Amino acid sequence: MINITLKNLTKVYERATVPAVDNLNLEIKAGELVAFLGPSGCGKTTTLKMIAGLHPVTSGDVLFDGQSVKHIKPEKREVVMVYQNYLLFPYMSIEDNIGFGLKMRRMDKAEIQQRVDEILSLVKLEGFGKRRPHELSGGQKQRVALARALVVRPKVLLLDEPLSNLDAHLRDEMRDLIMKIYKEFDLTIIFVTHDQEEAVQLADRIALMFDGRLQQFSPSVDFYERPSSTRIASFFGNNNHLPGVKAGDRVSTAAGDFTVRNSADVPDGNVILVIRPESVQKGSAGENAFEALINRRVYMGTYTRYCVKMGDSEWEVIGGPYAEDGYEVGKSAPFFLPSDKIWLLPAD
Ligand code: ADP
Ligand code: MG
Repeated sequence: MINITLKNLTKVYERATVPAVDNLNLEIKAGELVAFLGPSGCGKTTTLKMIAGLHPVTSGDVLFDGQSVKHIKPEKREVVMVYQNYLLFPYMSIEDNIGFGLKMRRMDKAEIQQRVDEILSLVKLEGFGKRRPHELSGGQKQRVALARALVVRPKVLLLDEPLSNLDAHLRDEMRDLIMKIYKEFDLTIIFVTHDQEEAVQLADRIALMFDGRLQQFSPSVDFYERPSSTRIASFFGNNNHLPGVKAGDRVSTAAGDFTVRNSADVPDGNVILVIRPESVQKGSAGENAFEALINRRVYMGTYTRYCVKMGDSEWEVIGGPYAEDGYEVGKSAPFFLPSDKIWLLPAD
């Protein structure tokens, strides 16, 4: 297992006007499973390739266990990368694809065969060794790519969007396989995704990037409960942002006054209230009770999504699935909002 530090890591591609990766600083603990999350084009793949040594860094450094690896060739870094589009050799059998790295290391044939068989069984592809890549499904090819990476017994595994080409059912299977590998092997794993649910389900910590810059690096719960900007909150499905003025534990807004808790860190004055759609409760039996006009409701089966209006402020509310709750479009209805569910950001 290896601890990975990125220090002012920057990549400017030739002829580019803005950096693809801009002064990235973070430390991944040995044996941690970390997700690089962010929209397409924010620099995730570029960062992985610099860690793997496949792209030279423009400035800054990559350290493994405190030592710079900037001048160490990719094959000497004990890092493997699995690409989004698998990159299998089309004319080689599955066995030869998987054993290729070992053959390059001049390992003897019998040992290669033994390792390949072991790893084929791990990824549940026993009996597929003699096939060619085109004879496999997308999910199976993905598992071959993973097997080919693991067979060389790396210390760091880098996965570029391992789930995004798979349909929902195969995605669950692949996610379970990644978790199994994580538990069985002594590996530091970084995987890239643009899907926040995937990141939350798999990672110990998430590094969120926008435009080549690190926005927040923390356990997933913090992105929901303690986002450090409204843009981050929105990326995690929270678009209820309301300007207000804080005085002690009271905040006044265009939608009324609210009592807030755990807000000592935020100075009095202009603030933004960030409120998760599922934190607003139906009924009037709690703190911060208010009436709001139901503008829209969509029954989703396991929950109902409401669009409600107070003053000139519009909120999204997610509530119980009760189809006949009387919260009808065009009516005014009671809601409340527990004071510990209001997250405050200083207005900037
Ligand atoms: P992500 O993986 O988050 O989608 P990338 O790291 O692939 O993002 O790309 C980040 C930025 O760098 C994008 O603007 C992309 O167009 C640019 N980029 C990626 N690869 C190259 C390259 N080989 N040459 C020039 N620009 C590149
Ligand atoms: Mg990418």
